[in-house]
This record gives sequence, structure tokens and C-alpha cells, in this order.
Amino acid sequence: MATKDELFKKVISHAKEFGFVFPNSEIYDGLSATYDYAQNGVELKNNIKKYWWMSMVQLHENIVGLDAAIFMHPTTWKASGHVDAFNDPMIDNKDSKKRYRADVLIEDHIAKIEAKINKDITKAKKRFGDAFNEEEFRNTNPNVLRRTKEIESINQRMGDALNNDKLDDLQQLIIDLGIVCPVSGSKNWTEVKQFNLMFGTELGAVAGDASTVYLRPETAQGIFVNYLNVQKTGRMKLPFGIAQIGKAFRNEIIARQFIFRMREFEQMEMQFFIQPGTQMKWFEYWKETRIKWHKALGLGEENYRFHDHVKLAHYADAATDIEFNFPFGFKELEGIHSRTDFDLKQHEEYSGKKLRYFDPETKESYVPYVLETSIGVDRMFLAVLSASYKDDQLEDGSSRVVLAIPAPLAPIKAAILPLVRKDGLPEKAREILKALQFDHNCMYEEKDTIGKRYRRQDAIGTPYCITVDHQSLEDNTVTIRERDSMKQERVSIEELPKIITNKVNMKNLFI
Ligand code: ATP
Repeated sequence: MATKDELFKKVISHAKEFGFVFPNSEIYDGLSATYDYAQNGVELKNNIKKYWWMSMVQLHENIVGLDAAIFMHPTTWKASGHVDAFNDPMIDNKDSKKRYRADVLIEDHIAKIEAKINKDITKAKKRFGDAFNEEEFRNTNPNVLRRTKEIESINQRMGDALNNDKLDDLQQLIIDLGIVCPVSGSKNWTEVKQFNLMFGTELGAVAGDASTVYLRPETAQGIFVNYLNVQKTGRMKLPFGIAQIGKAFRNEIIARQFIFRMREFEQMEMQFFIQPGTQMKWFEYWKETRIKWHKALGLGEENYRFHDHVKLAHYADAATDIEFNFPFGFKELEGIHSRTDFDLKQHEEYSGKKLRYFDPETKESYVPYVLETSIGVDRMFLAVLSASYKDDQLEDGSSRVVLAIPAPLAPIKAAILPLVRKDGLPEKAREILKALQFDHNCMYEEKDTIGKRYRRQDAIGTPYCITVDHQSLEDNTVTIRERDSMKQERVSIEELPKIITNKVNMKNLFI
């Protein structure tokens, strides 16, 4: 079995070799933390967006879409708090000259303690067998208790330092925990400093006249400033939501881990406007709805977990992350935040415009509360790609690399393959392609042996291969080969559109 590290390397090189993700401007040696989506990648990405849009907009009577501009009036970012508070606390190691996010160093330290607890639990499970009671073990085992307490105390100190902007305390915590630089191994740290993550640029042609505009660091603010426009023109009644998919930009200091953390990325955000006081009910509703959306993909239920925030962002009164088990461990995939009325109130104050909702039932007018779900398209892409990647050892001793991408998300739904390049088989295959291509992204391929072609389709995650052989000319049938089981079945060509549509329908993920 490959280690997780090896798996990650394999996924990255597979993504390049098979046309999913290329390093950006590669002929100039690339631009760090920037990637381009290639021919198969763009299809997978579009399908992920479609799956999200369908669940949010198409299937919710009370959620509508929006596509706001990337540039916004500069005051937007003062009102939202990003100019003053969209910072990461950074610390440098003086020996390696590497820069780290102070909170991430501490969280990695906590993860190591958690790993020790899990090791003890696994050992005890083996020892006690069926009689093992994990909860009791966690509550009584002295080692586990001590470590749990240690984690609590670290979380408390970190939360206190972050919430109160006590950067010295954060540095002291790193020193007290004896955290070493993963590169140099030394504890020779600088002090902790704040670093703003927004990209600024100049608007206007005349120097001096220009004013700083920012590339948006999140799509949410485009929704907030438009909320009343949408509410009025769409005659929306609370609770209602606005969904948006679009690019966001952050000058991440440590941008690494492939497409997990980039400086230019894409978000799928939905702001749900609600009556004040109902936020906890909706927080629970969206937690449940979103985790269901993830788990429906069948990438493994054990790969998801919730992680509640220790430090609440300046706008939130409750927040949790859906974490995914990436090849480098459990990390944030999606955030669910109860943002209160912070943003709308701030925009009221800075714009001088009322952003109230008039409730026709209570005849009151108030600023709604907001529940947000926010997920990165690129992280979702990486989750699907890494969980789908499989090195299969087959019974006949051979091996294959297969991407077991959920069929509705697969870049190509069906490959149409004439067994040989003669005898009228290519013509028949192209007829089938024509019958399917309006409904599905399909591919025609005639080069190489059929075995090699199957392997190539496995490697890009095509769920169905349709093979046209000599029998096809006689009785109008073809074989359909299923990617994961490699089983083949013979079906009539007439039935094909219906069969393929049933198998790859996105609807299947919802029922
Ligand atoms: P992190 O703690 O990992 O930096 P965050 O808490 O700052 O993430 P949010 O502001 O909650 O992230 O953004 C919502 C979502 O946008 C995240 O859950 C993630 O999927 C995505 N995202 C945020 N930053 C990046 C990035 N630099 N590259 C790719 N996706 C990102």
C-alpha cells in the first residue's frame, strides 16, 4: 500500500499526465500556487459546480443565483472588516527562513497529540475486542485524559490569543509547546506579525487619480450588497438564499499542497437570509444538508468530519468546518458560518443606505441574520480526485490505475470504441456518438487495442465504455463495460441513450 505522501504525489502527477490540472504558465517554470484546469479537469470542475448549483438553486424554491463582479467599491472591504482584520498571524524560523502561520503550527501540534490518543484507542480496541467501549476508555484512561486536557488547554490559550490579538501570547505558546520548524528542526522563532491577505490594484488610468481596489477575497460581499435588489426584484420572502459561484483571490503566504491552497481560486457560496433568533435552527439545517450533499457522492463516509471553530471570525456567532480526509490529513473543505447581521449592518453604516427587510407578516422591518455555506471548488475537486484515485491489482496479475469518479461528475460519461478500424465499425460507432452527444459529454476513440483504450478511459474516470464489434452490424447491439467492476453487458443500440442517461444522471445523487 502506498503511504499517504506517495498517494498525493501520484495524484498530482496523474492529474497532469491525464489532462486534469497543469501548472500555470509552465513554459516559464510556472507561477507558484497557480494552476490551470486542463481538458478533463474543466469538465470535472464544471460538473462539481453543476452538482452544487442544482442542490442549492434548482432544488430550493427559495434560493436564487447571482454573478457579481470581482471588483467592488473599495468601501465594501472597509465595511466587511477585511481591510483591518483579514490577516493571518505569521511567524518566521530564523534558521530555515521559512514562514508559517502561527495558528497552523499550533494546530499541527494538536493533531500530533490527537494521533497519540487514537493510537492508544486502536491498541485498546485490539486488546479488548468486542467488549471495548470507546467512550468509557476516553473518560477513564489516564494517558488519554491527560492528553485530552493538554489539547483543551492549548486550544484555550490559542483561542484567547487569537480572539484578543495577543500576538506575543501566540509566540509564547509556540515556544512553550517546544514546536520546531519542520525544515530546520530549530526553535529559533521571530515574533508573530499580522499579514493582510488581500490583493490590491489601481483603478483608473491617471496616476494619482487612481484609488486602490481589491480583488475580492470572498464572493460573499457581492451577495450582501445586492441582497435588497434581489429580495425586491425576486419578491423573495424570508427565509431565502442567494447562491454564487466565482473567483476569489488571497495573497496566501504559505501556498502549497497543490490546488488545496491557491492565490486565485473559486468559491461556491450561499448566503441564507433569516429572521434574527432563528440562526441555530438554520445552522443545524445547513450542517445536515451540506454533509448529506458530500456523502451522497460515495467517496467514503469516514472521510468527513465536522470541526468547530475555536476562534470565531469577527462576523460569526457559530462556525464549523466540514473537513475532508485529504492525502495530507483532515483539512477544511467547506465552512458553515452563522454571520449574524454583522455584514448587512456594516454596509448600512458605511453606505448610509437602509438594508432592512419588511416582514409582511409581523409588519416589522429589520436587518436579517445570515447563515453562510462556503466551499472551495478547487478543494472539492481535489477531494474527488484524491478519493477516486486507485491503483488496482487485478486477478490476472496485471494492474490498472482507475479514477472511480462518481459517474455524474465524470468528465466523459461514455467512450465509444469500434473494436477495429474497418468493416464499417467506425461508421456505426460514430452514429452512436451522434445519438448520445447532445445529452452527454462522450468521446470517440479508435486508436490502439481495445484493452489499451479501456485502460486510458479508466485513468480519466470514464464510467462506461461502449464497444462496437462485428455482431453490432448484425443485430444492432453493443457491449457496455462498467469502469469499476469491468463487467460487460450486451444491450441494444436503440436502448443506449436511455441506459446511459439513467446511469449517469445527477438526479441519482439526490435519491
Ligand atoms: P483556511 O483556514 O484553510 O485558510 P478559510 O477558513 O480561510 O480556509 P474560508 O474563508 O472559510 O476559508 O473560505 C471558504 C472556503 O473557500 C474554504 O472552505 C475553502 O474550501 C475555500 N478556500 C479558502 N481559501 C482558499 C485557497 N487559498 N485556495 C483554495 N480554496 C480556498
